[in-house]
Amino acid sequence: MIIAESASAIPISNGKCGFVPTMGFLHEGHMSLVHLAREKAEQVVLSIYVNPTQFGPNEDYSQYPRDLDRDLALAEANGVDVVYLPSTEEIYPHGPNSPLIHIGEIGTVFEGRIRPGHFDGVATVVARLFELVKPDGAWFGQKDLQQWAVLNQLVKGFAIPVTLAMGPTIRESNGLAMSSRNTYLSEAQKSIASTLSQQLLRLQTYFPNSSWDQFLQEVSDSRNIVQSVMDLDYLDVINRNTFTKVYEDSEDLALIAAVRVGSTRLLDNVLLS
Ligand code: AMP
Repeated sequence: MIIAESASAIPISNGKCGFVPTMGFLHEGHMSLVHLAREKAEQVVLSIYVNPTQFGPNEDYSQYPRDLDRDLALAEANGVDVVYLPSTEEIYPHGPNSPLIHIGEIGTVFEGRIRPGHFDGVATVVARLFELVKPDGAWFGQKDLQQWAVLNQLVKGFAIPVTLAMGPTIRESNGLAMSSRNTYLSEAQKSIASTLSQQLLRLQTYFPNSSWDQFLQEVSDSRNIVQSVMDLDYLDVINRNTFTKVYEDSEDLALIAAVRVGSTRLLDNVLLS
């Protein structure tokens, strides 16, 4: 496995290059994307970069969990060919003070409303990583569904020649979506947090067997259940391409949710159609 501290150290691939961008503190969710990339690409590049421009001033940028030795061992054991560890100078030659891309409306709703500027930072770092790594395809997790929608708009908007692919959310045995931030949670908090995924998975199963009105009633019941054990930011039915709220049965639906357990924010979602 090659460890590239600059993009110039990434060898030119003999075939397709598959790319998995991450912020490190790797877990099985990240590794599932590596395995999906491996199926389609001769060379798999995984980047680790905690991107300052996607964190708000009062967020956890400096505390974000980091463990490079463990990450490198996990990447190697999972068949990553190149781990790319860019410097901030390489990503942001003019400094990381403000993102260069303003992604627009989709970046201002749900997560974007609660974390202003977050998706501008995500779009900017991914565009920059694509320029530096020049992959043929890139893999992202369903867990961050709004990020997926933002990046699809980015790639279409700039006609970036990278094929995007989405991998399913990998969960702990109790249903909690894996996340680097789960390390902030105690065992008791993890157990409380699993109520959210249990409700989402229940609603996903219920959806095809119910009328729209019955379904909305169940969504409302789930909100109450979740709210009784943690702080709920939102639990809504949306169109997964536009991230607009949906008021009638239609295509491309998803249920998205964000909660706070203690001071940790957690995201989850399920696809409905
Ligand atoms: P992060 O390191 O949190 O920025 O995540 C890097 C990539 O891994 C993103 O595309 C995430 O959506 C994806 N990812 C994170 N957690 C999971 C999970 N539990 N299952 C699948 N993909 C995930």
